[in-house]
Amino acid sequence: MASSESSPKKGKSPTPRVPMPTQEPLARIKNFAEVALGYAEDQALIEASRCIQCKKPLCVQGCPVEVPIRDFIAHLQKNDVQKAYEVIKSTNSLPAVCGRVCPQETQCEGNCILGKKGEPVAIGRLERYVADTYMALSACDQITGKPECPLINEDLKVACIGSGPSSLTAAGYLAARGIKVTVFEALHEVGGVLIYGIPEFRLPKGIVAAEVAALKEQQVDLLPNWVGGKTFTIKELFDEGYKAVFIGVGAGLPKFLGIPGENLIGVFSANEYLTRANLGRAYDFPHWDTPTFPGRRVAVLGGGNVAMDAARTALRLGAEEVRIVYRRTQGEMPARHEELEHAVEEGVILEILSAPVEFKGDSQGRLTSMVIQKMELGEPDASGRRSPVPIEGAFQELACDMAVIAVGAGPNPILLDSTPELKRTRRGYIDANQDTGETSMPMVFAGGDIVTGAATVISAMGAGRRAAKEIARRLLGEDAA
Ligand SMILES: Cc1cc2nc3c(=O)[nH]c(=O)nc-3n(C[C@H](O)[C@H](O)[C@H](O)COP(=O)(O)OP(=O)(O)OC[C@H]3O[C@@H](n4cnc5c(N)ncnc54)[C@H](O)[C@@H]3O)c2cc1C
Ligand code: SF4
Repeated sequence: MASSESSPKKGKSPTPRVPMPTQEPLARIKNFAEVALGYAEDQALIEASRCIQCKKPLCVQGCPVEVPIRDFIAHLQKNDVQKAYEVIKSTNSLPAVCGRVCPQETQCEGNCILGKKGEPVAIGRLERYVADTYMALSACDQITGKPECPLINEDLKVACIGSGPSSLTAAGYLAARGIKVTVFEALHEVGGVLIYGIPEFRLPKGIVAAEVAALKEQQVDLLPNWVGGKTFTIKELFDEGYKAVFIGVGAGLPKFLGIPGENLIGVFSANEYLTRANLGRAYDFPHWDTPTFPGRRVAVLGGGNVAMDAARTALRLGAEEVRIVYRRTQGEMPARHEELEHAVEEGVILEILSAPVEFKGDSQGRLTSMVIQKMELGEPDASGRRSPVPIEGAFQELACDMAVIAVGAGPNPILLDSTPELKRTRRGYIDANQDTGETSMPMVFAGGDIVTGAATVISAMGAGRRAAKEIARRLLGEDAA
């Protein structure tokens, strides 16, 4: 509970938060530019002034990487963006990313005391403002608060496998302490889901590239086109002198529905669809010559962030009608509120209480429609959400020429299958200590989606940071870590 000192003044409702400027829906569905435009200076200062600087700032308790939120906002209240940035960067290697995609409503902002009577401080938007305003500084300034990076000890080498937010955070933490880090990535670009999953209109590639460039300045080696378990093994890394390995290979194996017709032309996994659009730059056709499937009537199956991204991408690629088909109701959708709101504003139709049971096609094997079973809500299940229950005999056929399956993902198996020594959980993820990332193999650590299953950017970053702390403690000793 909040202390009385940190409660908003009795009888006085907090002022409403400053709205985020956005591109108009009708304009933005015709382009891939960022939807949320970010605060201008005056807006950021007004929003920062809403923070009442609680003695016990509950907002921090909701942040997996423990950003000293009250303190960065205090600097911002004095318009000292540099100090604000240094405070954020002291625990968060990717603030421009987090300010854009973290589910703040359930984390820092979900805990903010102002939310008890009115609207919480817009912490994510302020973080984005500070990061965007300050990105011009050198990486060493950003990360260490000093103009020079620490001297790198080439003998203390650590390998990170995968280049998503968990590995990038681990790499930044270790490099800031003078440890030589190499990041091995299977794909041809670095950034994990931040690059190949989350679309440009939510997280511009330039923002991820700037955060990655900061790591390069810290002498982190980033090696794309290296597939752990195929191009090299974990044992070979130790043979080459690496002292520790961090595994952050994510949960990139798409799940399917197992219903008839899933092999028809026009049915995609969200993973394939979004990777083509993002990494292949299909959204920038014909400047990049990767065409994508031109869906006219599109059905996206699922209700999370991935489903929202696929639906909004399809709209921007010219679809005339896009439906999100979801088994429960809008209230149970796991997507971030803001993304769901933006999707609806843009014209995405929500087909709720509907479960797909079959895809139908023509004689050429092309998708023409899907059959959905109408559902109603029953008792709450283990997740606390009410389970969808089929309404007997209630089926409906929806015309569609493209379907995107966004119903979850499993552990990426390539590295795991080649490393039987690595203990796995019942669900096939890496069994790692929650506090340290330690696995069953000595000096091998893991974190992010490959441990937890599909989760969030910030939780992957928290895991990368905890593992890096432990690696630094072992390699440098208690004090230096
Ligand atoms: C479309 C989409 C939208 C999302 N939206 C949000 C959002 O709005 N907010 C949010 O917080 N979270 C969101 N998430 C979830 C979030 O992106 C993930 O939880 C997070 O990226 C996990 O980070 P990670 O470091 O564990 O792995 P990843 O980001 O998955 O990165 C793993 C990397 O490892 C590489 N790799 C795999 N196997 C190997 C190997 N054998 N050798 C070398 N490299 C390998 C992969 O190519 C990949 O680049 C979204 C996810 C998706 C798919
Ligand atoms: S952001 Fe909210 S909880 Fe955190 S210090 Fe400010 S008012 Fe208090």
